[in-house]
Amino acid sequence: MQLPDYHIHTARCGHAAGRMEEYVERALKLGLPEIGFADHVPMYWLDQRDRDPTLAMPPEQLPEYVAEVERLRAAYPGITIRLGLEADYIPGYEEKLQPLLEGYPFDYVIGSVHYIDGWGFDNPAYRDGYWEKDINRLYREYFKLVRLAARSGLFDVVAHPDLIKKFGYRPRDDLREVYEETARAFAVAGVCVEVNTAGLRAPVGEIYPAPGFLRACCRHGVPATTGSDAHAPSQVGADFDSARRLLVEAGYEEIAFFKGRKKFFRKI
Ligand SMILES: [Zn+2]
Ligand SMILES: [Zn+2]
Repeated sequence: MQLPDYHIHTARCGHAAGRMEEYVERALKLGLPEIGFADHVPMYWLDQRDRDPTLAMPPEQLPEYVAEVERLRAAYPGITIRLGLEADYIPGYEEKLQPLLEGYPFDYVIGSVHYIDGWGFDNPAYRDGYWEKDINRLYREYFKLVRLAARSGLFDVVAHPDLIKKFGYRPRDDLREVYEETARAFAVAGVCVEVNTAGLRAPVGEIYPAPGFLRACCRHGVPATTGSDAHAPSQVGADFDSARRLLVEAGYEEIAFFKGRKKFFRKI
């Protein structure tokens, strides 16, 4: 069976290309059983004057986004289309995010860590921030935030769970213990780990997460989802053969699907 692509963006976020129909048509062409749009949540933690229009949709577009996914669902009965959202985890702002997530009929919500103390560490525009940082300490801070995101109870899935490696800055420390602790936190929180192929298109050239982290997740019984993090129609389902191989090598035999924020499983 083909894997579902649960991480697809739309042009509303200000840094993705194409119409939503083109993403669906690409998925149909590939024969994917199911896809889900998971566009970036409006920057709910900022004053709207400080919002960056190239990072996420403005708040007033969220209802339109939801309506358009619903419209596509009716227009393309040949493929299952889920309504998802990629929501940044910002500690201290949980109470602002929660009502926003409850206001729409999402099938799943993907939680992401894209900021460490306000620094957008995965944004190429702020890459020089790495120069002044202790990379070992940075990895620890990052994974601590990832565990907090998992434990927040706000999310069904944790996105690209080692995104901190995006530009190829690697710590000297052995990460086995961090992986173990984080996988355990995912298991206790009941969140899924996302296997995200965008890492192959980033300087690091490696799927998120690393094989060692995915193996730890499998050992702890953490369910997995798959996503391309497509920001262009041609990226839908990109490198899913590699994602499948990584999942199988880590010990996974099934993959999680979502409907109405409830998961069910199918064999891979
Ligand atoms: Zn994006
Ligand atoms: Zn992301």
